[in-house]
Amino acid sequence: MAASPIKPAARIFNFGAGPATMPVEVLEKAKWELVNWHDAGMSVMEMSHRGREFIAIAAEAEANLRELAKIPASHKVLFLQGGATLQFSAVPMNLLRGGKNIDFVNTGEWSKKAIAEAKKFAQVNVAASAEDRKFTYVPKQSAWKRSKDAAYLHICSNETIGGVEFHWTPDTGETPLVADMSSHILSRPIEVAKYGLIYAGAQKNIGPAGLVVVIVREDLLGHALPDTPNVLDYKLQSEADSMLNTPPTFSVYLAGLTFKWLLDRGGLAQVERDNIAKAKRLYDYLDSQDFYANPVAREDRSRMNVPFTLRDAALDKEFLAEAEARGLSQLKGHRSVGGMRASIYNAMPIEGVEALVAFMEEFRRAHA
Ligand SMILES: *Cc1c(COP(=O)(O)O)cnc(C)c1O
Repeated sequence: MAASPIKPAARIFNFGAGPATMPVEVLEKAKWELVNWHDAGMSVMEMSHRGREFIAIAAEAEANLRELAKIPASHKVLFLQGGATLQFSAVPMNLLRGGKNIDFVNTGEWSKKAIAEAKKFAQVNVAASAEDRKFTYVPKQSAWKRSKDAAYLHICSNETIGGVEFHWTPDTGETPLVADMSSHILSRPIEVAKYGLIYAGAQKNIGPAGLVVVIVREDLLGHALPDTPNVLDYKLQSEADSMLNTPPTFSVYLAGLTFKWLLDRGGLAQVERDNIAKAKRLYDYLDSQDFYANPVAREDRSRMNVPFTLRDAALDKEFLAEAEARGLSQLKGHRSVGGMRASIYNAMPIEGVEALVAFMEEFRRAHA
């Protein structure tokens, strides 16, 4: 890296999309407890998942998640492995329930990946697609062409790569609504009762990779395809408290610390207010000049992932290098769309956004 007169702070502002920045308070607490957790004489990493210490850690994580997201008793919470990507298969395996069709709303790269996997198990009907405008908006529900007998309807409620977010909850009537919330879960209150199933990989807004959270309505369970591996069978995992085999214990522990941190911040209503303020700061700046631009329809812009381009893409490299030298890290956009992307998850403080906007303005003045 080029020498810079400005020394980065000990901790950078990490705008990476995932694995992503975590709350420093959570990391400090985990450090404090790393070698000897609560006088157990060992680390959480070394505990049996069947022992009373870890069972208490997992139970508290679930209780805190339930309180945070106000998850009703109708819904089970599972802590599983394999990331959100394995859920692209696990969801159809469990939720087809004798049906043959699935409806999808295609809002971008993650929708497309979920569709490709679902096609291995079912007939996929794309009820609506935003591909006609390069995935820069969420198609209105009035324009969706749903099939009559879909086992469920799948959305990706925040497209991490395109920066497109559902700011409303679809109403699918009797058809269960399934959402991949990987990159915005816990960034705002969630109407859990309106969903048949919610899933989210942890490494965006919850904690470290290795863990995926599944929230599923209990009455949908018990109909997995006959060839479903046991560890992917929600019913079996639910009966085993997500411990059919060894769970990702340390990831569950860190997720639990994050849930506690969010509760201490005042819960999801407060977290949402903070996220609105952060996103507004960045989008207001993007809209105030024409050196940088964001392509997404205003009403569908993501509060978590903010892609933007420079008017002159030849300056991208210099922009990234100077940002990095100031401790503004991982701003490079996804390879499929290019440009920049600032991921501003729950753990990104407003100071990080302020520092980014100040740098962007300085860079603009130097090159405009
Ligand atoms: C990151 C991401 C995934 C994939 O997560 P993995 O844990 O890598 O499988 C899926 N969906 C969305 C919306 C994501 O942001």
